[in-house]
Amino acid sequence: MSSIKSYKQYINGELVSSTSTDVIEVLNPCTEEVISTIPKGSNADAEKALEAAKAAQPAWEALTAAERAGYLNKMADVIRANREHLARTLASEQAKVIGLAQVEIDFTATYFDYNAAWARRIEGEIIQSDRKGEQIFLHKCPIGVAVGICPWNFPFFVMARKVAPALVTGNTIVIKPSSIAPNTIMEFTTMLQSAGLPRGVVNFVCGSGSLIGDALVKSPITGIVSLTGSLEAGRQIIASSAENITKVSLELGGKAPVIVCEDANMDIAIEAVTNSRIIFSGQVCNCAERVYVDRKIYEPFMERLIARFKKVKVGDAFDTGNPEMSSQVSRDQVLKIDGMVKRAKAAGAEILLGGNPNGAFGKGYYYEPTLITGCTQDSEIIQDEIFGPVLPVMPFDSLDEAIANANDCQYGLTSSIFSENINKVQYGIEQLKFGEVYVNREHFEGMQGFHAGWRKSGIGGADGKHGMEEYLQTKVVYLQRH
Ligand code: NAD
Repeated sequence: MSSIKSYKQYINGELVSSTSTDVIEVLNPCTEEVISTIPKGSNADAEKALEAAKAAQPAWEALTAAERAGYLNKMADVIRANREHLARTLASEQAKVIGLAQVEIDFTATYFDYNAAWARRIEGEIIQSDRKGEQIFLHKCPIGVAVGICPWNFPFFVMARKVAPALVTGNTIVIKPSSIAPNTIMEFTTMLQSAGLPRGVVNFVCGSGSLIGDALVKSPITGIVSLTGSLEAGRQIIASSAENITKVSLELGGKAPVIVCEDANMDIAIEAVTNSRIIFSGQVCNCAERVYVDRKIYEPFMERLIARFKKVKVGDAFDTGNPEMSSQVSRDQVLKIDGMVKRAKAAGAEILLGGNPNGAFGKGYYYEPTLITGCTQDSEIIQDEIFGPVLPVMPFDSLDEAIANANDCQYGLTSSIFSENINKVQYGIEQLKFGEVYVNREHFEGMQGFHAGWRKSGIGGADGKHGMEEYLQTKVVYLQRH
């Protein structure tokens, strides 16, 4: 019988009890067992964490950027030193297969190092003046206290995506992990002492979004809120940020289209589309959510895609046989996915493979790898985020029709096109209205890019130089000589 961990809040460099005694239980999705509890949190916890971050900020900003970067490198070292423990914690709290959990831990460590390397490249500008003897300088300044609100699907990496750029630019931060998968982040708090960070620079408070999350957003101390989460949470945060006109940076949902042209390399397309839908059991914001295939190759493409989906290896997150996917994160997710599939079927769609919860493991929230066709463009399953191993595939008769259908969506995060014809590829790049266009490869961004959705996929963005600049504000100085 495994022991149930009980996590505390991490405020001002210490693990402290919440002022509320209410807790939230965290489950292992593969076993359905409770593995930990976190505080439900309170307004007082939010206030305390923000006050700590505010008090720590001036001294943190006063360090040289290179000194701040040194702490980021130390955080990366701590992560690497605890790689296996963090990966196992991640796998157990959200059913991420252990190999992918290790990739997330490694990527997170590299992300800290990558952002540390920006320290000497935070640059202002000198602007020509209209006045004689005047110089105009544009300075880049930290905003002050940042709040980072994290989702459950890549909880550890997304934490770094907020902490690393905020810290290197001279901000301090309060992070709120998701209540569904907070454990890896909270284990990290127990290791932070060896990074030697000054107290209050990074704080972690657990709890419900509508309670402690909202209190963090509404506080006048908060200078920027960076949320990664659902469209609904984004809407609520915009409303709450109105109180103090607080800057928001929102990374929200996606409904990524894939266009497969007649002249696509079929081997590459089949593998990329499958990986893009199956990785982490389909619970990735930027991955393939709908496929449009040229009718001329639709039949052979579907034959091969069905055969590939049939071979998808499903297993427990700790299965040593390298499963490609595991359980969904929760019973609610399975019910949501299954509801969408059943409604699509009732509306006339054809289920080509799967289409049901997968009870093969006795326990856990598994769903079958599923392929669907015959969906109308305006149907729920083509328009709304599925976030599971379910892929609708539709034929098209012209590239313009495929592009129009791809763009016909409230989300604008990522998209892809598969073709060996440079003119079609270039036309697709021009016409697809998304923050990212992947050509002949699966949807997965690099840390040096800029992950920023169009339309309802968000405001602002993360990664690279532009992601770091989200945490800076400008001060223009007019210096007159006389
Ligand atoms: P969610 O919106 O349910 O929760 C995200 C976080 O927001 C949680 O910590 C939650 O407690 C908090 N929250 C919810 N309401 C809040 C409020 N009113 N005030 C303050 N905080 C609040 O999302 P989720 O289910 O954890 O994550 C899945 C969603 O995230 C999907 O839609 C997915 O596409 C999206 N996502 C987007 C990206 C991206 O980079 N664009 C990356 C990962 C996930």
